[in-house]
Amino acid sequence: MTSAAQSPAGSATSPATRPASLSGASAVTAASSTTRSLVGAPIAAEIKARVKTDVAAFRKRNGYAPTLAVVLVGRDAPSAVYLHQILRTCNSVGITGRLVEIPGRASAARVRNAIVALNEDPLVAGIIVQMPLPKRIPLTTVTGSLDPAKDIDGIQPINAGHLVLGHSGFLPTTAQAAVEILKRSGIPIAGRRAVVVGRSNVVGKPAALLLLRENATVTICHSHTTDLGSHLRDADIVVVAVGKPGLIKGQMLKRGAVVVDVGINVVGDRIVGDVDAGSVGGVASALTPVPGGVGPVTNALLMTHLIRAAEHQARSESPGPRARRPAVVGFRL
Ligand code: NAP
Repeated sequence: MTSAAQSPAGSATSPATRPASLSGASAVTAASSTTRSLVGAPIAAEIKARVKTDVAAFRKRNGYAPTLAVVLVGRDAPSAVYLHQILRTCNSVGITGRLVEIPGRASAARVRNAIVALNEDPLVAGIIVQMPLPKRIPLTTVTGSLDPAKDIDGIQPINAGHLVLGHSGFLPTTAQAAVEILKRSGIPIAGRRAVVVGRSNVVGKPAALLLLRENATVTICHSHTTDLGSHLRDADIVVVAVGKPGLIKGQMLKRGAVVVDVGINVVGDRIVGDVDAGSVGGVASALTPVPGGVGPVTNALLMTHLIRAAEHQARSESPGPRARRPAVVGFRL
């Protein structure tokens, strides 16, 4: 794990304090003359290179490649695009990606049975289920049936509980990616004021908890927050995960703030984040681009979780009843 450099949140990290692997120009490009663009690709490449080595070693030891099962319920075009990106990432690091398509009209019982079958499949080390589910199918169908040891995106209550308690376990990858970008880009977090906009279980809340774990002083804003700008103007670090294009404008921010834009919005034929990049450029000291910021790091971290799950399962199941395996995998990146 790289450690944060000690420059103030508002200033660009000097090459001397930036982690060596990211000190090249490719890791940081200019969003404006004074705003660093915290590009995800070099960070993702670094993470995937290590995963690729670990997968090769796993394969040599165990004689098979671990499988990530991606479950898609119904035909949702944006979800399908996202899942195919994950399958491509699997392929690039030697992990077997298995797409499990369930018709949108399927019952909750059928979805549950499919997940239970994947839980029991010894080749499958990790399972992700694309959200949102069709409205008829409650989220608990997934969270209640997913084996916590295969819940590599940290949506299951046991993993969520470990996150709250500060124990190790599978973290929700998007939230982890938001914080990982800050850490690997040498942005100091400890002692800084962080504002997370959005409080979903998959992004906002876990991002806030992870920033707290890094010793930031954290405020969470949401749709009932009055005067969002009054909170943002105090923030050294802003993580925004809302799904509203242009929500965060430059005049709402403190000069020099670091902004992580998690939002993904389709506007016409473009994909944009929640940040109005035009007005934020020159006010923020650093900003993640959309696309190309949080997304690639999220996918890379998912691969890390998968290989850790596979290693844990191979160690603790040789081969025996699943009940003997500890429910939760403990690891840190
Ligand atoms: P979500 O479940 O819809 O949550 C959105 C959150 O935004 C809610 O907490 C909501 O508040 C809050 N909100 C809505 N309007 C607001 C406003 N005007 N001011 C402040 N807060 C407001 O969405 P999500 O799943 O967390 O996803 C958020 C965004 O991240 C989406 O654009 C999604 O596509 C993107 N995303 C990106 C990745 C990636 O890898 N980059 C992964 C997952 C999601 P309430 O709780 O009060 O309703």
